[in-house]
Amino acid sequence: MNLVATLSAIVGSDHVLVEAAAIAPYLIDWRKRYQGSAQAVVRPANAREVAQVVAACANAGTPMVPQGGNTGLVGGSTPDASGKMVVISLQRMNRVRAIDCDNDTITVEAGCVLQAVQQAARENGRLFPLSLAAEGTATIGGNLATNAGGTQVLRYGNTRELTLGLEVVLASGEIWDGLRALRKDNTGYDLKQIFIGSEGTLGIITAATLKLFPLPRAQVTAFAAVASLAAAARLLDLARAGAGAGLTAFEVMSAGCIRRTVTELPRVRAPLPLASPWFVLLELSDHEDETHAARVLETILSGAIDAGMVQDSVVAASIEQSQALWRIREGIPEAHAKAGGNVKHDIALPVSAIPAFVEETNAQLSARFPWIEPAVFGHLGDGNLHYNMGTSAGTPIAVAFEHEHEINRIVHAAVAARGGSISAEHGIGQLKRAVLPEYKSALELKLMHQIKETLDPHGLMNPGKLL
Ligand SMILES: Cc1cc2nc3c(=O)[nH]c(=O)nc-3n(C[C@H](O)[C@H](O)[C@H](O)COP(=O)(O)OP(=O)(O)OC[C@H]3O[C@@H](n4cnc5c(N)ncnc54)[C@H](O)[C@@H]3O)c2cc1C
Repeated sequence: MNLVATLSAIVGSDHVLVEAAAIAPYLIDWRKRYQGSAQAVVRPANAREVAQVVAACANAGTPMVPQGGNTGLVGGSTPDASGKMVVISLQRMNRVRAIDCDNDTITVEAGCVLQAVQQAARENGRLFPLSLAAEGTATIGGNLATNAGGTQVLRYGNTRELTLGLEVVLASGEIWDGLRALRKDNTGYDLKQIFIGSEGTLGIITAATLKLFPLPRAQVTAFAAVASLAAAARLLDLARAGAGAGLTAFEVMSAGCIRRTVTELPRVRAPLPLASPWFVLLELSDHEDETHAARVLETILSGAIDAGMVQDSVVAASIEQSQALWRIREGIPEAHAKAGGNVKHDIALPVSAIPAFVEETNAQLSARFPWIEPAVFGHLGDGNLHYNMGTSAGTPIAVAFEHEHEINRIVHAAVAARGGSISAEHGIGQLKRAVLPEYKSALELKLMHQIKETLDPHGLMNPGKLL
């Protein structure tokens, strides 16, 4: 039997796609930068089928590409151009297996869409806090494989911090059942950590046990205009002191990003005149009520105005107003994509290093490329910026892409010089694979290769990504 026939015997022929039109959406990434080809897309229904599919591909020496919602931003879930790979889509595996409210845990299959997991938690009076703009499409498996961050990391941590157990199909076709629901387990190496953030290069995550939290009684959002990133960093300090663990998001956006979003997306409106260079979105989650939450935020903001940190601010008076403020922040990637994209960097630095990094790197870039226009936003509370570079009016965006390599080098060198990371939350994928060796020590790379060779000795799990 050829491989397609074998795969059809495992999952049913309806779930082995080979027609060009049917497989097309699985072969291109969200940003439309990577276009691949594949001999088939397989859609298994459960972990046992995934294991059989992996074993069949391994027997045939066929490389595999795990895929969830295909919202990744580094080309990790796109096959190469050889046409030999098989894409394994987890989207049919979308069951919530269990919710344990006494233990505050939920066990879900890897193809569950993040928003559906949040909803299942909410229906049980719990919060699953992972939140990102692609949450209506991105899957838990993809979140785990990229160790996704998002807007609530400040309070709840990355996907890694939210994970208690995993079920993984290994490259050998064995199923590792590590679905423990324990907050303490010191029985040796914590194997799940190897798979979290491994971008599909070590195995296929088929299910996870995740932490739940009490559902806040109220969430209130505010929007504040600040004169500089240094002022935004001081506001973060003040907000933490005033709200403690109640501060669940602290996002920064340049005025240029907001202007672009308002222009491109009719559903988005700016709540304040865009007269300041930077704006901050703060979210407070409260276990009393909305009046209390709004009072805490207003106290923080009036203190910040008195201290000269904040120039203007607005506190949302309803859930609808909060959602409207979030739409500005969450619309930025879509607005940039609509406008032709830009040269992206997803960097992490100590918060204290961010104002000088942005000022000095902006100056360095504009001295070299007079047409450059920074489009910067991100999770300032986590020290994570999307430090993206577009072009000023009159210069086509293609010019920035022509110089992408040099722009990247300048930015990455500035990040490395300050002890930062060239990938805070999106991963390495294909986009940064070639440059990773410049920013990891030889010993770190050697250990990563040794792990890869141990778990995937034939190099069939998502080759051409990460390492
Ligand atoms: C508008 C927008 C906003 C975004 N905002 C954020 C953000 O704030 N924070 C953030 O971290 N990311 C963000 N992202 C990036 C993206 O949503 C995340 O990386 C997300 O976790 C990817 O999930 P996915 O299911 O789409 O994975 P995919 O794109 O399908 O895959 C991503 C990687 O994971 C691997 N993979 C997928 N499923 C599995 C599995 N079950 N087992 C093993 N490997 C697997 C793939 O091979 C690939 O390498 C954003 C993306 C968009 C489009």
